[in-house]
Amino acid sequence: MLTGKHVAVIGGDARQLEVIRKLIELDAKISLIGFDQLDEGFVGATKVQLSQVDFSTIEAIVLPVSGTSSEGEIETIFSNEKIILNENHLKATPKHCTVFSGISNEYLKTIVQAAKRKLVELFERDDVAIYNSIPTMEGTLMMVIQNTDITIHRSNIVILGFGRVGMSVARAFHALGANVKVAARENHLLARVYEMGFQPIELDQLANEVSNTDVCINTIPARVLTATVLAKMPTRCLIIDLASKPGGTDFRYAEKRGIKAMLAPGLPGIVAPKTAGQIIANVLSKLLLEEQNNIEEEQS
Ligand code: NAP
Repeated sequence: MLTGKHVAVIGGDARQLEVIRKLIELDAKISLIGFDQLDEGFVGATKVQLSQVDFSTIEAIVLPVSGTSSEGEIETIFSNEKIILNENHLKATPKHCTVFSGISNEYLKTIVQAAKRKLVELFERDDVAIYNSIPTMEGTLMMVIQNTDITIHRSNIVILGFGRVGMSVARAFHALGANVKVAARENHLLARVYEMGFQPIELDQLANEVSNTDVCINTIPARVLTATVLAKMPTRCLIIDLASKPGGTDFRYAEKRGIKAMLAPGLPGIVAPKTAGQIIANVLSKLLLEEQNNIEEEQS
């Protein structure tokens, strides 16, 4: 349990509600900043403004998936308050205070470092990325169904990248009866692609393998769908680019060639905000409990 541990949850979207629920279940003391317009009352959590928070008692700060902007602003859909987290807030916390964020940027890293506190980027973790690949895969299926006039069954699908997302997506399309090819650059990944019953493509041979593609799903955060590759694709091909912005597709050339190409960021939060929130909440609470045990061991 996290009885008495003071956690500040600052801003966010529907996913953060699951985090708050879990923290309440674990009996933490919770200050909610940037939630004044939230109708749902959480017994055991107190809504406060940033300026009213006594940071000297805060042992963990939970930021939204997006962390802060490059100016320190924290997004919240539950308030119009402009919330800017700065170095002085963090310096006022106890030395063992940890900052949890989905992703981070130079601003956040700099203020956490200057205050000599610990930063945990949850989305850098393998477990979070693998759990998140589930709603990402479901969102991808949804987009493909919505944007094609053929069944997935018997369609020709090319998946680029065979990491956490690529593997989940390949397995799902294969299970629905599609012909799945997967392009990767590492030999051990190509071997795994083969072992799982998909057709491996060496990434540098991609242009020679796309002439009959109905749907291409990119998970590689680098420009892999170049004009050279796109020129070999049929114009009927649908491209769903899942890779982080700006994606891996030459969107200008795709449009010129008449190929429908869509960048699809943030699918877990769109198609399954509750599950996406629970994924964050489960991992976060595990980390907080581990941290609490460590503190108690040090003190005993
Ligand atoms: P991952 O496990 O790191 O997999 C990335 C794959 O891309 C690996 O196969 C990797 O191969 C390959 N790759 C990376 N850089 C490459 C390069 N320069 N050239 C060739 N191959 C390269 O990442 P992930 O968790 O699957 O996530 C993939 C992308 O999707 C990320 O950009 C992530 O931010 C994004 N994402 C999007 C959503 C969404 O909703 N759209 C959801 C979750 C994740 P190697 O092993 O050879 O490096």
